[in-house]
Amino acid sequence: MTELHFEKKCLFCDIVQKQIPSTVVYEDETVLAFEDIIPQAPVHLLIIPKTHIPSLADLKPGDERIMADLILAIRKLAEEQNLLESGFRTVMNSGEGAGQTVFHLHVHLMGGRLFQWPPG
Ligand code: 5GP
Ligand code: ZN
Repeated sequence: MTELHFEKKCLFCDIVQKQIPSTVVYEDETVLAFEDIIPQAPVHLLIIPKTHIPSLADLKPGDERIMADLILAIRKLAEEQNLLESGFRTVMNSGEGAGQTVFHLHVHLMGGRLFQWPPG
C-alpha cells in the first residue's frame, strides 16, 4: 500500500479525502477520477493521483507506478464513456502560464464533441 501525502490547502486533496463533494466516476488505490465542475465538453473528467503532486514539473523517480495507473485509468474511462472510436482529448496544464489553476496534478479527459488544434 502506497502512503498518500495530502496538502492542507489543496482543493483536490480535499476531494480525495471526501471533505469536498464530487461526482466520482473511478477510484482505486492510487487514482481518483471525478466530473469537472465546469465541463468544457459533454464528457469532462479529471483524473488525479490520490497523493499530492503539484504538477508534471514535480514528478520524481518513484512516481512511475502512480503515473502508469493514471494513464491506464484514462484509457479505461475513455472506453466506459464510449470515446475510443470517436476520439478524446487529454490535457495536462502545468504551471500558471499554461492555464493550471489547481496545483494538484490532473489530466482533463474530454470527449463527445469535435476538438480543434492547436488549442488556445
Ligand atoms: P486546470 O485549470 O488547473 O487545468 O483545471 C482545473 C479544473 O478543475 C478546471 O477545469 C475546473 O473547472 C475544475 N474545478 C475547479 N474547482 C472544482 C471543484 O470544486 N470541483 C470539481 N469537480 N472541479 C473543479
Ligand atoms: Zn493536493
